[in-house]
Amino acid sequence: MSDCLFCKIIAGEIPSNKIFEDEDVYAFHDIGAQAPHHFLVIPKQHIATINEADDAALIGKLTLTASKIAKEMGFAEEGYRVVMNCNEDGGQTVYHIHLHCLGGRALTWPPG
Ligand code: 5GP
Ligand code: ZN
Repeated sequence: MSDCLFCKIIAGEIPSNKIFEDEDVYAFHDIGAQAPHHFLVIPKQHIATINEADDAALIGKLTLTASKIAKEMGFAEEGYRVVMNCNEDGGQTVYHIHLHCLGGRALTWPPG
């Protein structure tokens, strides 16, 4: 999608601090990190919100990619959180779905 920030990041039109990429997904550090480790995993296919998603394998791959990276980065055993925000009440600000992965500190619950 031409006017989407994360599509532009995938295309390399906007720089990002990339962690991982394959044919389906792209992972990169969040520019506004809310924890010592905070990265995003996104599908290469533009999907605006999780309400529009219908590919279970692709959505599952986002989570498994996050856990794989958390293990590789060395904070999986201590623990982490994966979360996807949806629409206004969910706090979504970028309308290309993205899984947040946060770790490296004790996270509180519930989120605000
Ligand atoms: P949301 O609020 O939609 O769940 O999360 C959007 C996330 O994208 C935020 O955590 C924000 O810091 C991050 N973000 C917004 N713009 C950019 C950008 O240009 N580059 C990177 N790396 N992250 C961004
Ligand atoms: Zn997009």
